[in-house]
Amino acid sequence: SPSRARGTSSQLIEKYKRYVSGSQAFKYFPMIVGKALNARIWDTDGREYIDFLSSAATYNVGHSNREVLEAVKTQLDKFIHYCLYLYHEPVVELAELLAGITPGSFEKKVAFGLSGGDANDAALKAALVYTRRRVIVSFDYSYHGTTALDIAVSGSFSPELRGLMPFRDVYFAEYPDTYRCIGGVEDPEECGELYLSRFEELLKKIGGSNVAAIILEPVQGDGGVLIPPANFIKGVRKMASEHGIVLIDDEVQTGMGRTGRLFAIEHYSVEPDLMVLGKALGGGMPVSAVVGRSDIMDSAPPQSFFATSAAHAASVAAAIAVVKYVTRNNLHERAREMGEYALKRLNELKEKYEVVGDVRGLGLMIGVDIVVDKKSKRPDRAKALKIIWRAWEKGLVMMTYGKYGNVLRIAPPLTIPREDLDKGIDIIEESVKDVLEGKVPDEVVDKMTAWK
Ligand code: PMP
Repeated sequence: SPSRARGTSSQLIEKYKRYVSGSQAFKYFPMIVGKALNARIWDTDGREYIDFLSSAATYNVGHSNREVLEAVKTQLDKFIHYCLYLYHEPVVELAELLAGITPGSFEKKVAFGLSGGDANDAALKAALVYTRRRVIVSFDYSYHGTTALDIAVSGSFSPELRGLMPFRDVYFAEYPDTYRCIGGVEDPEECGELYLSRFEELLKKIGGSNVAAIILEPVQGDGGVLIPPANFIKGVRKMASEHGIVLIDDEVQTGMGRTGRLFAIEHYSVEPDLMVLGKALGGGMPVSAVVGRSDIMDSAPPQSFFATSAAHAASVAAAIAVVKYVTRNNLHERAREMGEYALKRLNELKEKYEVVGDVRGLGLMIGVDIVVDKKSKRPDRAKALKIIWRAWEKGLVMMTYGKYGNVLRIAPPLTIPREDLDKGIDIIEESVKDVLEGKVPDEVVDKMTAWK
């Protein structure tokens, strides 16, 4: 039942709050993970959930994927890791694999990190050193990680926090939003042109020759699943080339098949100079990578992207298994098929409920925009939070994101069985109904967002 007692859980959660820093808090539900397999999670009380979050697009190959586990175990039986003072085999195999599957016919090199954020940091450093320029252009509501440089270039952090970071040479461009397009423009192509012309104006104002890098999410994830029109991305690529600016494609959330292509940038037939991978790359093990033009990747001096645990042998072994699993099983194709099916079902909800304002997605990266009413498109964050709380009570883990905090994020493992996908969508519908019928109290909104 929804109100089931969680005695031991609540004691552990109290301790968590006492000892773990609030700066790492991001907890919506008082739930302790006990076990996870494919698209399901069990809490330590044995309750089962479907996972529509998959730690925000990390478990593309499913939780506890056998091939990933075996690869890690095999590596651990040989040695845990030896830092890059010495060569080891897995790092070479993964670098070669990544150079082979990423777009771009140029000569590539790869650098490894531990998180999406540290790899973005490395890519930005590479661009600064390579171009000998100071300015970085990013986008409103972007998310690139939490190193000081990442925070400085992430539009989703508050201007106050960004202002405290040592790197200030950042400009934020508007990211195309075709649902709430500037000027109320409805046609996606026209909307893309409009944003592109504003981007061009901004670049002119800064002076293109001052810009080291443009850092771009090919689909904005944490911003609320915003899918830019192709003409916008193509235009940005063209301007970057004209001004000798390094185009960094942040595929931390979109990579490894999530959007129905191996990498989301392929939807636009655009080649970035540097691509950043993380999350799903390691199938849950910590590993990230920057893959890109050799001349840029080699411009920074030795050790400037170094970390003792970078290219960790066990994580790299996991990543090799992930790359092989995704490509051998055409998991990106499955993401596309399942995504189309989910969009069809969710669009039926949009027809039925006034609060479901927009349903958008690419592959299994889907957002459901909860609004006060369809006409005003006014975001309804409180209602979205109540829906995910109710869904959690009914056995579905899902979160809200977005620049207004009102978007239900659907990003299950790409291996999710159709029955689980259906069951999860059924739970969403039941939860929407319950919220509309006033069955979910207002207090849950504070419960989910009071981190401390
Ligand atoms: N870039 C993007 C696009 C992301 O979505 C995220 C994580 N949400 C990151 C970078 C940061 O990755 P990590 O949390 O592994 O540092």
